Amino acid sequence: MTFSVHGLAVSRGIAIGRAVLVASSRVDVAHYFIKPDEVDAEIARVRAGRDAVVEEIYRLQTSISRMGPKEAPTELAALLDVHLMLLQDEELVGGVKHWITDRLYNAEWALTTQLEIIARHFDEMEDAYLRERKADMEQICERVLRAMKGGQSPVLPAQRPGRKGAQQDLLLDDTVDVPLVLIAHDLSPADMLQFKQSVFAGFITDVGGKTSHTAIVARSMDIPAVVGARTCSQLVRQDDWVIIDGDAGVVIVDPSPIILAEYGFKQRQGELERGRLQRLLHTPAVTMDDEKIQLLANIEMPEDAQAALKAGALGVGLFRSEFLFMGRHGQLPDEEEQYRAYKKAVEGMEGLPVTIRTVDVGADKPLDESVHDDAHLNPALGLRAIRWSLAEPAMFLTQLRAILRAAAHGKVRLLIPMLAHASEIRQTLAHIERARAQLDRRGDVYGPVQLGAMIEIPAAALSLPLFLKYFDFLSIGTNDLIQYTLAIDRADESVAHLYDPLHPAVLRLVADTIAECRAQGKDVSVCGEMAGDVTLTRLLLGLGLRSFSMHPAQILAVKQEILRSDTTKLALWAQRVRTAEDPALELAGGYV
Ligand code: PEP
Ligand code: MG
Repeated sequence: MTFSVHGLAVSRGIAIGRAVLVASSRVDVAHYFIKPDEVDAEIARVRAGRDAVVEEIYRLQTSISRMGPKEAPTELAALLDVHLMLLQDEELVGGVKHWITDRLYNAEWALTTQLEIIARHFDEMEDAYLRERKADMEQICERVLRAMKGGQSPVLPAQRPGRKGAQQDLLLDDTVDVPLVLIAHDLSPADMLQFKQSVFAGFITDVGGKTSHTAIVARSMDIPAVVGARTCSQLVRQDDWVIIDGDAGVVIVDPSPIILAEYGFKQRQGELERGRLQRLLHTPAVTMDDEKIQLLANIEMPEDAQAALKAGALGVGLFRSEFLFMGRHGQLPDEEEQYRAYKKAVEGMEGLPVTIRTVDVGADKPLDESVHDDAHLNPALGLRAIRWSLAEPAMFLTQLRAILRAAAHGKVRLLIPMLAHASEIRQTLAHIERARAQLDRRGDVYGPVQLGAMIEIPAAALSLPLFLKYFDFLSIGTNDLIQYTLAIDRADESVAHLYDPLHPAVLRLVADTIAECRAQGKDVSVCGEMAGDVTLTRLLLGLGLRSFSMHPAQILAVKQEILRSDTTKLALWAQRVRTAEDPALELAGGYV
């Protein structure tokens, strides 16, 4: 039966594929595709894991048979029998075999997928006793997983091997070549980064806001995604056909052939439109009144420099270096590793400037997904970004040295996130000096850097003279600026409707920052998600912005808006929008 689920549209386009449900508690279980000739070995691996658990249970049974009823209650023996029985369960064994043989899932993925399906069957049972067996099933699967540990375990799918003779027809195809869409309750930004190299055609998560970092990474991958879809991961079943409408924020499950055809058409239209935009690749971003606009790229990993160049970016406006630090189980990258990564990005940009932001972990970007910041009541207001760097001087100095050394290979701009206080600015500058002195003592080569600050806390936007005194350029992080101005957690879908880039207070802070920088002759750009939103391009131009930094995939669409704009007409209109009671209404009215 067809039904739809509504969430937040975070990444454009239409994806049609079969659902792959990833249980969030198990996202750290390896998920990858095996080759067709590895099927037998993979089945043997699960079998070995299962046999080990059976052995373990036999041993337990023998030892409790020697105990008295006080040490080993009879229920325990009965429970072990149940576990033995569940290990032979046909649905479990057959299902695991199916996912490995027909879908080429690795053993752990196959096991957790089948567990998820069986768990749902248990949930639907009337009989309370049987319903409770779900926990037993989960326990034995966890034990099998543990028993299998120690073998190879890449974290996520790299490439999906094709199979000879696979059919391409979406409706008929039941082979490994069917597009897959990933559905999870939640995915950390680090998970998303892993998925970046993977095969999924789209993403859906139950939680998350439009500018949560998970959504940002989805957008950078340029594949359709919906977040904040509430209970979607519970409503969809493994392998269901799913349509993601990333423009409308809608997920359609089990679509009828008519709906499928309609969305197939929309999907092709979208592809055509993208193809058309490609024609603008070599056209300079200049407005109708001859204002040159700088379009820069936001990247997460050094390899993304390629996509930035391919999209015609004039540089990197934001390299979120924290993605090098996440999901490393406490093993932070050392100076050499960081230096190589920054150098790769710098060289990858072939002489164009690269703005490297120092690490911004914390809030919805934990270092490790297993270490959720429950210790602090409001992690978004806690020890994140520069606050964390200043609290970990050895780590900070290591990063600064690596960035300064990379600056010997090209134009580097050093960007500091989340500053608010003069004392933080002074400490940061002192650390940069210390890092230079350390490099001098070591006799290492390093290059000059321009120094910039992010304006993403209202206090910073209201203290511009301080920032302009110390920094060469400013970059407005609208994602956080909106979060902190409106007191809306950007990762919380329950308040997503209040997260408003067009709130007059936000517009005022953005407009004043741009105006003040221009008056002082300092470079200013916007690197938050507002910069890549084509519905806001004209407004930002009208407010005086001449430098936009966004995901490479958004550059051509924004350029198209720029080519159609005349800034001489936009300035007055933008002031009207900025001072309106309801700027969204004024904006919708257009500028003529
Ligand atoms: C921002 O806050 O707008 C920004 C660009 O930084 P991040 O999204 O990484 O917090
Ligand atoms: Mg930010």
